[in-house]
Amino acid sequence: MSTVAGVKPVPFLIGGQWIQDTPSYITHVNPATGEVNYQVCAGTEAHIDAAVKTAHAAASKAEWRGMLPHKRAEILNKIADLMIERSDLLARCQMLENGKVWKECKNQVINGAATFRYCAAAIETLGSEITPPRGNYLSMTVYEPWGVVAAITPWNSPITLTCNKIAAALAAGNGVVLKPASYTPTSGIELGRIALDAGVPPGVLNVVPGAGSKIGDALVTHPLVRMVSFTGGTEVGRRISELAGRKVIPAVLELGGKSPHIIFADANLKAAADAATVAIFEGTGQSCTAGSRLFVERKVYDEVLSMIMERARALRVDLPDAPGAQLGPSASFAQRDFVEKMVEGARQEGSEILIGGSRPSDPRLAKGAFYLPTIVTGVTNKSTIAQQEIFGPVLCAMPFDNEDDLIQQANDTTFGLASGIWTADYKRAWRVARALEAGMVWINTYKQFSTAAPFGGFKDSGLGREKGLQGIRTYQQVKTMFWSMSDTFDGGFSIAK
Ligand code: NAP
Repeated sequence: MSTVAGVKPVPFLIGGQWIQDTPSYITHVNPATGEVNYQVCAGTEAHIDAAVKTAHAAASKAEWRGMLPHKRAEILNKIADLMIERSDLLARCQMLENGKVWKECKNQVINGAATFRYCAAAIETLGSEITPPRGNYLSMTVYEPWGVVAAITPWNSPITLTCNKIAAALAAGNGVVLKPASYTPTSGIELGRIALDAGVPPGVLNVVPGAGSKIGDALVTHPLVRMVSFTGGTEVGRRISELAGRKVIPAVLELGGKSPHIIFADANLKAAADAATVAIFEGTGQSCTAGSRLFVERKVYDEVLSMIMERARALRVDLPDAPGAQLGPSASFAQRDFVEKMVEGARQEGSEILIGGSRPSDPRLAKGAFYLPTIVTGVTNKSTIAQQEIFGPVLCAMPFDNEDDLIQQANDTTFGLASGIWTADYKRAWRVARALEAGMVWINTYKQFSTAAPFGGFKDSGLGREKGLQGIRTYQQVKTMFWSMSDTFDGGFSIAK
């Protein structure tokens, strides 16, 4: 494919060098306008091989592997500083590529910088452990990097998800090869530039865009890759897990969701309706934790639904950089078409579309991949629209009659990422929270995130945890040491302990 006339394709990063000489390019279409943004150099299997070897060599050097934690923390803090300095650039990369509204893009940069600061503080303070001896020795547990981590990210929130991975992986002392989603490669590339400028040794962090279907296997199966950290859809996650399993390397998987958002009749209904609206429509529904299945106790079902409809109608769907825009387009035209197909399928399954169910009529948005906030009702939890992840602004609302009925329906899904409960009864909140099969439970709130709290899913929503102190340990392997304090050998099976 040729390049856009007069515009050089965006290069990527291997070993501190900017790679421009590639046989093909990714052509970037702005989902808000349908116009070509730019082209990005696409890596090949040979680039993956070079990136992994480079990461291995750089991460093995004493300069990085032996770097004292407080020095590593200084670099991570510097990355955070540079992210804030270049926040407009990073936010713009994301906005142009996936159409997220400007405010959300900027906030993701700020939160991403906070993730680097958290990891800096954590790595400077996380210690090794002395374990209780059962003989005349000192035994201790130390934590070491895996070596080369393959980090593979999706297109919905590339800044946040890339920071979650690379901040923890670098804090833990690994080398990294980042493969960003083809729809959203440039914020990852700019984060690579920032890491270099902040003093990460060249080669420790490499960024290679390219179609996952072409270079994904080469990355995951490369003999020098010792860990995979993947965020994306469940099907690709399953394949990566199989490949990693054959190599006996860990694969942390952050996958899809179809999260139940539950409103009991005794809840603060106004706050619950506010939250239910944000939970599904923020980010145009392209959030793994979107509260996409709404369960409302039957006696307040109509009342709550009309409150949510009122709020959804007031949402401003607009160009991502328009002041006050709340929902941008879908991240791609293919994604918008998929959303449309799912809603059409729901219509044919006999559901009622309460609001939305179409593209906006505003002629300014006609060339973009826009779709209106949509609320579907009259379906059961068994229907396709209630079971399949849509990743769009589509809320599927269903009534429930009692707690047992609710828990049965809420857990009747292959996914188990997030959930929300609204009730004034704290004992019920506790019972339901413990019964839900989900990695995250929000009680009288929704979509609260903290870089200090572990994040991940149950069931087909994933394996392993990112964020929090556990999230740093995810990127380390455990080594146990025994140091004898005796002058004679007193180990072996013949000694009773
Ligand atoms: P995807 O199709 O699974 O792609 C994710 C990443 O995997 C992309 O970089 C993609 O590259 C790459 N990839 C594709 N095929 C591959 C292969 N065979 N080997 C290795 N890598 C491969 O997911 P998506 O459509 O980008 O993202 C949406 C999904 O992500 C949703 O299911 C959403 O729920 C999930 N998600 C989960 C979380 C979480 O934390 N649990 C957060 C955000 C999103 P290309 O772009 O080149 O295809």
